[in-house]
Amino acid sequence: MLTCDICNLVVQKNEDVTYLEALYTGDFNTVMYHGPRHILCDFSRARYIQHPDLPTTYMPPFVTNSLLAKVVERRIEEWTNSWVQLQQVCGLTTNMYTMH
Ligand SMILES: [Zn+2]
Repeated sequence: MLTCDICNLVVQKNEDVTYLEALYTGDFNTVMYHGPRHILCDFSRARYIQHPDLPTTYMPPFVTNSLLAKVVERRIEEWTNSWVQLQQVCGLTTNMYTMH
């Protein structure tokens, strides 16, 4: 069993940020070079995932600049879609993500 380098608890594939990042970037080498870490133990990624099946207290960065707000909105959509894809690859079902 592989454990998280932050909290030392067991990491399942569907909750591993290295697999999430591989799906997000399309670069699966990241799985070989980085140890497992819970998505929820990784603030920098977790704050961009907004899905009812992943309860998190993280908030995306507060921005007042409209251009930066667009970037943050896109990152939320992309990271959340990658998270949904990871759950599906692991054989789990989620409600499909919809942007509002
Ligand atoms: Zn952890």
